[in-house]
Amino acid sequence: MDELDTLVELSSQMELEHAEDSDGRVGDGSRYVPSELLDQRRRTETTEPTHPSCFTPKEKRAAFAHPAQLPNGKNIVLLKTLLSSACERDCYYCPFRAGRDFRRATFKPDEFANLFGKMHQRGLVEGVFLSSGIAGGGVRTQDKLLDTAEILRKKQNFRGYLHLKLMPGTEKDQVFRAMQLADRLSVNLEAPNTERLAKLAPHKIFIEELMRPLRFIEEIRRNEPAYKFWNGKYPSAVTQFVAGGADESDLELLTTTHWLIKNIRLQRAYYSAFHPIHDTPLENKPAVNPMREHRLYQASFLLRDYDFDLEDLPFTSDENLPLHADPKLAWANLNLIHSPIEINTADKHQLIKIPGIGLKGAEVILNARRMNKINSLSALKKLNILADKAAPFILLNGKKPSTQLAMSF
Ligand code: SF4
Repeated sequence: MDELDTLVELSSQMELEHAEDSDGRVGDGSRYVPSELLDQRRRTETTEPTHPSCFTPKEKRAAFAHPAQLPNGKNIVLLKTLLSSACERDCYYCPFRAGRDFRRATFKPDEFANLFGKMHQRGLVEGVFLSSGIAGGGVRTQDKLLDTAEILRKKQNFRGYLHLKLMPGTEKDQVFRAMQLADRLSVNLEAPNTERLAKLAPHKIFIEELMRPLRFIEEIRRNEPAYKFWNGKYPSAVTQFVAGGADESDLELLTTTHWLIKNIRLQRAYYSAFHPIHDTPLENKPAVNPMREHRLYQASFLLRDYDFDLEDLPFTSDENLPLHADPKLAWANLNLIHSPIEINTADKHQLIKIPGIGLKGAEVILNARRMNKINSLSALKKLNILADKAAPFILLNGKKPSTQLAMSF
């Protein structure tokens, strides 16, 4: 295998890892995306990166590059790959689990860094998301990831985007080193608690191996000044869950997500709807409806950015979110339909609870009404608010707006 073949092998199953906003689900990562906008976006987004024609088909395949949107809104081409697909663990859902029969591949840190450096210099990729199977324990594997990152930063002088995975059991000094090298760090929790994790990954320890490295990130952020870290900023922390893999409820997933947002300033939780992989213990378990991912994303943004609490979310009796209902709309139908909010006096906290009004929209309304009162749905539309969606839940100068009038604009 030459180095490009190795990269193809290592990158081939990486669609299971959600990175940044490459899945097109959530726009800039801070914005609540109602279902109808999501559908529109899915129709218009490209899923394939475009490369200059000077690259060979093999190079393009090897790059396995993903269009991704960074937290600052910038679009880049991200190389998502593993340092090694050899793994000593046996997580039930994972294509890389020990004993599964497929061709494994491994890069040494300098091999990967050199290859990435060449690809980056030629403009094939702009950033990297680097994970690994575990060989010789999480600590030793983490050292290899850190060595790779260090070569990229210090020898290759790579200043672009680096998302580094933290392995189970990563120690505090390793987390500190990772924070000096990466823009983003992630630990895949996979399941929301110890009991559920046992159904997915019998040899991972939820608190000691997975939660602890996430807590180290926040501990270090609280105790060390930002200038000590990469580019003088604290890297963000994210995690990923296999949604539905352990028969857990949405309430369990969102309870853990909410705790992480409040206590360790988690930037994002990614939800990957379970789908069975051949030749794994869960190969006969039915796939989870991908709409569940979408509802979980919507709910997690409501918790993170929209001042919602868990009890505001419209869980059904089985503690899941209804698949057919936008959770913000469902909340408004219960809480605002008989107590509409006056657009001309509401504060930001009230405005962002209204369907059709996002974080930016609330700011725009607050600014606009300093000049003039907002008297009509057409005035709201001119501010780029989804006025028809907001209409059932608002008052304009004390009156319910006429949707009929608005439809004519
Ligand atoms: S430790 Fe990671 S790579 Fe290894 S089997 Fe588990 S999920 Fe897969």
